[in-house]
Amino acid sequence: MATLLSDLTRVAKYVRDDRLRKLLIEKDKEKEGEHGGIGTPATRDTILTTLFERGYLAEKGKNIISTDTAKSFYDILPDQAKYPDMTALWHEQQSAIQNGVRDAKSFIDELMDYVSGEIDSVKQNGIGLKIKMYPCPKCKKPLRRIKKKDNNQYFWGCTGFNDGCKYACDDKAGRPLEKKAATVSALYKCMACGQGLTRRPGKKKGVHWWGCSGFPECKQTYSDTKGKPDYSKRKEKQA
Ligand SMILES: [Zn+2]
Ligand SMILES: [Zn+2]
Repeated sequence: MATLLSDLTRVAKYVRDDRLRKLLIEKDKEKEGEHGGIGTPATRDTILTTLFERGYLAEKGKNIISTDTAKSFYDILPDQAKYPDMTALWHEQQSAIQNGVRDAKSFIDELMDYVSGEIDSVKQNGIGLKIKMYPCPKCKKPLRRIKKKDNNQYFWGCTGFNDGCKYACDDKAGRPLEKKAATVSALYKCMACGQGLTRRPGKKKGVHWWGCSGFPECKQTYSDTKGKPDYSKRKEKQA
C-alpha cells in the first residue's frame, strides 16, 4: 500500500508523451511530496477504497494485486482512460482557462462530446467484458459481493433480491461460500406434511432442533431429544 500510494504521487513516469510528462511534473513544482502525481491524498484514499470494494484490487499476503476483473476491465478501456496523460492534458487546459487563453465552456463541451462518443460506441458495440460470474443457486441470477455495514467483512447477495430472491451466503477469499445443503432425514418425517426433517444446531450450544425440509411452505419444527425429533413437542415456526 505504501509503494502504491507513493507511486500515485509520481505517475508522471508512466506518461508516454515527453511534453506532457514535463507538464505534469511542473504542475507539482510547489507541492511538497508530489512529483507529477494524480489526484490528491484525499481522493486517492477514496479511489483505492472503491477499487477494493468493487473487487478490482485485492490483498495477497503483503502485496496488493489487481484482480482478473480489474484486468478484463482495463483491457476494454480506451487508451485515454488507461494512461495518466489525461491528467497532464487537463492540467494544461485548466491553466489556459485560468490565464484567460481558453474558455471553460469549450473545455466542457469537448469533454461531453468525447464521453458521449464513448457511450455511443459501447451502446453500439457492447462492452465485451467477461467477468467470472457466480450464479445464485436458487434463481441463477448473478450473485453480488456486498460489504457489511458494521465491519469490513463481505457477504454475497442475489441480484434478484428485488424480485424476491433472498439468497445470501458468506464470503471466502472473494468468492461466495456456498451453503451446504442440509441433510434431510429419510427416517424422520414431518407430521404435518410428510416430508423429511433436518436436524439443526440451536442458538444454545449443544442444543438441536428439527425443521421440516418443506420450509418455507411448511413451518413445522420439533424439539430434539437424544438426536431424535420429539413429536410431542411440535410447533409452527413463526415467520
Ligand atoms: Zn437468487
Ligand atoms: Zn412439514
